[in-house]
Amino acid sequence: MMETTVIIGAGASGLLCGCELAKQQANVIILEQSNKSGRKILASGNGRCNLSNTNLDMYFYNTDDKRIEKIINDFNVKDYFNQIGVLTRQVGTLLYPRSNQSLTIKNALMNNFDQVALIEECQALKIIKRKNGYLVKSTRGDYECDNVVIATGSPASLLSGKNNYDLVNDLGLKVTDLFPSLVQIKTKPAYPKLKGVRVKCQANLYNDNELVESQTGEVLFSEQGLSGICIMQLSRLLSKCHGNLEIGLDLLEEFSESEVNILLEERLKKYGNYYLEGIFNDKLAKVLVNVDNLKDIRFKIVGTYDYTKAQVMHGGVSLEEVDENLECTKYPGIYIAGEVLDVDGDCGGYNLHFAFASGYHIAKTILSKGK
Ligand SMILES: Cc1cc2nc3c(=O)[nH]c(=O)nc-3n(C[C@H](O)[C@H](O)[C@H](O)COP(=O)(O)OP(=O)(O)OC[C@H]3O[C@@H](n4cnc5c(N)ncnc54)[C@H](O)[C@@H]3O)c2cc1C
Repeated sequence: MMETTVIIGAGASGLLCGCELAKQQANVIILEQSNKSGRKILASGNGRCNLSNTNLDMYFYNTDDKRIEKIINDFNVKDYFNQIGVLTRQVGTLLYPRSNQSLTIKNALMNNFDQVALIEECQALKIIKRKNGYLVKSTRGDYECDNVVIATGSPASLLSGKNNYDLVNDLGLKVTDLFPSLVQIKTKPAYPKLKGVRVKCQANLYNDNELVESQTGEVLFSEQGLSGICIMQLSRLLSKCHGNLEIGLDLLEEFSESEVNILLEERLKKYGNYYLEGIFNDKLAKVLVNVDNLKDIRFKIVGTYDYTKAQVMHGGVSLEEVDENLECTKYPGIYIAGEVLDVDGDCGGYNLHFAFASGYHIAKTILSKGK
């Protein structure tokens, strides 16, 4: 008899896993606690869904676990979505759906769902081991199955709820320490008056005055600190640094220090008080008049915004709990997919790539075992 798989969570990893199982006519039931599947897919990339990145080096992830590296590298997001009807476009190394719309991705995954029972507003409450297989208890009844895929995501942004680790905790699986990642940083000083102002610059993270990492791109001033993609990338490193943490902004990164001195001196003579306004955003220029070194404006890091403002969580189910197929070593037949695992990456498509790749890998494993 054909095996039945219950997937818990209709996000990126759960939907792709379900899509692949459904393509091979497997019996699949997906339980989704909210009234709308794929909410993070829809929100991703500002509604454009940055699906993946062509530069998949493990440097951009929190782990160099060889099993995870293989799963990431074995999956080609572009080919997969082409094959289910989605054309993609590449901007630099970033991959998007050609439609520029996240909805295209969610719909393409769900188009293959003829025989999948997708049950929304159905929260899985408990997974009970049976002699053969598992029983998943939910708010809408009990489901007997051979395999369970836990694809419950993380509480980052709250778009996927905040009970994401309840099932794995209940099973006694180890969950590593959790931190909000890809999140705005709170600083001192902060410039609430500059809220919404963007500046192209180099942002350097210092731990006890030692350079940890540099990112070049756009920084966005926020109410209590700094935001923008390069600040969010730096936020991923904070949990590893334990000294006095600072961000230094180089607002004139295209000029050397001596060039800056000459440039500013000349401009001051020529334009007087206006000397910074021809270079920077008007509001920013007014603040910068009181700043000594425009190539290294220091901000003390006093914290981050909490998980409700983060794009992902750093931490999750420990990789010690799973084998190379993401199957729990303590519970054969239970698989863990996507962000609920202790795998997270930079901005730029890395997190969706892992969610899709892990869902695909699990589907392939279940299908090969069922043969
Ligand atoms: C605003 C925002 C923008 C982002 N942009 C990008 C981007 O452009 N590129 C990128 O790579 N990444 C991006 N990310 C990160 C990316 O969206 C996530 O890492 C990815 O969606 C994780 O997929 P997942 O399948 O693991 O979990 P999710 O997509 O979060 O899905 C988990 C699902 O499980 C459901 N669930 C949880 N518990 C239960 C339960 N007990 N019973 C039933 N259902 C349950 C949740 O409701 C949810 O639908 C972004 C994240 C946010 C918040």
